[in-house]
Amino acid sequence: MKYISLLGATGSIGTQTLNIIKEHANEFQLAAMTVGRNITLARKIIAEFKPELVSVADKEDMDNLKLEFPNVKFTFGNDGLVEAAVYVKSTILVNAVIGSVGLYPTLEAIRAGKTICIANKETLVTAGHLVMNAAREFDVPILPVDSEHSAIFQALQGEKEKNIEKLILTASGGSFRDKSRDELQNVTVSEALNHPNWSMGAKITIDSATMMNKGLEVIEAHWLFDIPYEKIDVLLHKESIIHSMVEFHDSSVIAQLGTPDMRVPIQYALTYPDRLPLSTANRLNLAEIGRLHFNHMDFNRFKCLQFAFDAGKAGGTLPTVLNAANEAAVEAFLNGKITFLQIEELIEKSLTAHDSIKDPDLSLIQEVDQETRAFVYSLLK
Ligand code: NDP
Ligand code: MG
Repeated sequence: MKYISLLGATGSIGTQTLNIIKEHANEFQLAAMTVGRNITLARKIIAEFKPELVSVADKEDMDNLKLEFPNVKFTFGNDGLVEAAVYVKSTILVNAVIGSVGLYPTLEAIRAGKTICIANKETLVTAGHLVMNAAREFDVPILPVDSEHSAIFQALQGEKEKNIEKLILTASGGSFRDKSRDELQNVTVSEALNHPNWSMGAKITIDSATMMNKGLEVIEAHWLFDIPYEKIDVLLHKESIIHSMVEFHDSSVIAQLGTPDMRVPIQYALTYPDRLPLSTANRLNLAEIGRLHFNHMDFNRFKCLQFAFDAGKAGGTLPTVLNAANEAAVEAFLNGKITFLQIEELIEKSLTAHDSIKDPDLSLIQEVDQETRAFVYSLLK
């Protein structure tokens, strides 16, 4: 039996992880979990999966749940995220929380020797060097959950890093793939939330529409696979059937294909290096699909992708600024405070205003993260 700590259990990745745990109940058990404010769903999960430790965002929710579930240990807030991440019985951390709030619990789980299944890409974007260095120091695997990175990871099995020519990340194009920049002026939140291929949480769906999601994934790939930015390409592929590819120096390209279903990469991270059957997954029927389409990425159309490449290459504290500005701007867009195109404006302003500092430690990253959010909020006034 493998015991799991799951951060973000009520989210899109969180609930799909629970689906995998349920399907393979003789292999996996939920030992600890965290939720935010969705207490209705939290109740159902606690009743069904019986975790020993549960952390919620707010103390009041914790006090109420304590009365309902006297046999469960409860905690709350950011400390609760850490407590759940390092829960003694767990050997695996699935980090499916959203945002850079996932960084510190991840570092602590690495120090506690947990295997890390990482969906929380903001953690790798904001502090990839800290996470990967800690993982090396404590000899802990960091296994990708993001579908593109899982595809690359699968394509790299048995391969040598020195033979890689480039990583090719595929991008669906998000909700506004076929709109011109002019047409983006007046798009609404609900239009942006309508992703053609994937059903995901709100923040990442907006990130897909701005193409920041792919930008974050470029930085994520850089850290996970230790590959320079010059060797990472992005390719538009509207069907989301090829989840990403690796080109080798002999010109061979290995791709991983499948229907868009996040449970597949989640399960692969949990079972690696083995695989388990997934009876409820939709099988890929290429004859039925008939055609797959590919296109170059237009960096003028999708400015956020360019920002991410630039910030990633520049390094230092710039990726932290990129991520924090994006988190704050997307939140403002979702709350109806800014227009869609103002997301990239706010990110650009934040990047321009910042003097990058080399090789930041954890406290500097946390400071820059907070300062950047404050800067974005000040521009909203
Ligand atoms: P969701 O918004 O669906 O879920 C986020 C989860 O985090 C919820 O459980 C939420 O709790 C919790 N949460 C949010 N803020 C806080 C906080 N401050 N403290 C504690 N808990 C918090 O997100 P997704 O599942 O879509 O995404 C999770 C991560 O996985 C992101 O980093 C995303 O980029 C990445 N990812 C997602 C994919 C997808 O298909 N969804 C694909 C690839 C990567 P509650 O709802 O209870 O408030
Ligand atoms: Mg992805």
